[in-house]
Amino acid sequence: MARIHELSEVLANQIAAGEVVERPASVVKELAENSIDAKASRIDILVEDAGLKQIRIIDDGIGIESEDVEMAFKRHATSKILSREDLFKINTLGFRGEALPSISSVADVVMKTATKGKPGTLLHIKGGQKEELKSTQSREGTEITVNNLFYNTPARLKYVKTNATELSKISDIVNRLALSHTNIAFSLSNNGKTIFQSAGNNNLQQTIGAIYGIKVAREMLSFTGETGAFKISGYTSLPKVTRAAKKAISILINGRYVKNFALSKAIIEGYGSKLMVGRYPITVLNIELDPLYVDVNVHPTKQEVRISDEDVLAKLIADTIYARISEENLIPNGLENL
Ligand code: ADP
Ligand code: MG
Repeated sequence: MARIHELSEVLANQIAAGEVVERPASVVKELAENSIDAKASRIDILVEDAGLKQIRIIDDGIGIESEDVEMAFKRHATSKILSREDLFKINTLGFRGEALPSISSVADVVMKTATKGKPGTLLHIKGGQKEELKSTQSREGTEITVNNLFYNTPARLKYVKTNATELSKISDIVNRLALSHTNIAFSLSNNGKTIFQSAGNNNLQQTIGAIYGIKVAREMLSFTGETGAFKISGYTSLPKVTRAAKKAISILINGRYVKNFALSKAIIEGYGSKLMVGRYPITVLNIELDPLYVDVNVHPTKQEVRISDEDVLAKLIADTIYARISEENLIPNGLENL
């Protein structure tokens, strides 16, 4: 008798959710990234109880056509890539078609969406099962509400930390999205209280101010650098303005926040011996490169990437920051050790 069968779609989605949806902050990341990909100019993120009770994301993006709404929640369904070649020139944050099916398999999700000039659609999916699909009045854009995350996966719920910890992780994600998309106005609130707001006026220094305070932002040093395939720009703090946590460093590649050990190390190297051991500068590093140079398809969360000629890029970063910090140094070069 045959003993092998295909997993049901709901079960397959719940398994995938284990990788994509680790905690409330992952839901915020995936949904806000969808809003960014939908060309929103405003993204409001409202959470209740650090996202465990509710996460609501409202955008003014292009919305989803009524005939596509159900498809958006199917596994591996995406509007962002079509062919194998597209995989080598990804210019959207999403492309794997995993977020909506994963999230809706472990929560109670209602999406309201409308494209320009068309009636809207409401879709309610709970634990991977469709509860309701109807047309509705809605302005252009998308509003998605995620209730009772992990209600049907008790093991995952146990792994979630205190509300304060989960909220700070959400905050970190929203801060990074705001830094990498200064053209979008973000807001984040928890239980009705606003915790973060960015103006969306393309001003990176002002966005840094909204996160780290105006005083820190004013003292930041701007830098730019270029070599071959790589262009870098951003702001970095004076050696005396540091943080104990590595998250003070934000590395953004073509608008995507990434974690990269070699590039973080290059930033620190740029400070020579001027940083105290175990301290990190506040840095926002924007890297622009041909998408051909970066493989984002390494991990489901897409925070780890592989970069071709990473050593060349690392040297550019270290040299650029070194030069900028030296410029600021009031003691003439070569006299530091006297
Ligand atoms: P991916 O982002 O990898 O394509 P998702 O599961 O996150 O996969 O979303 C599936 C599809 O649903 C997207 O490709 C997009 O077409 C559509 N979509 C999701 N969220 C939004 C949104 N906020 N606005 C417009 N379209 C959206
Ligand atoms: Mg997505």
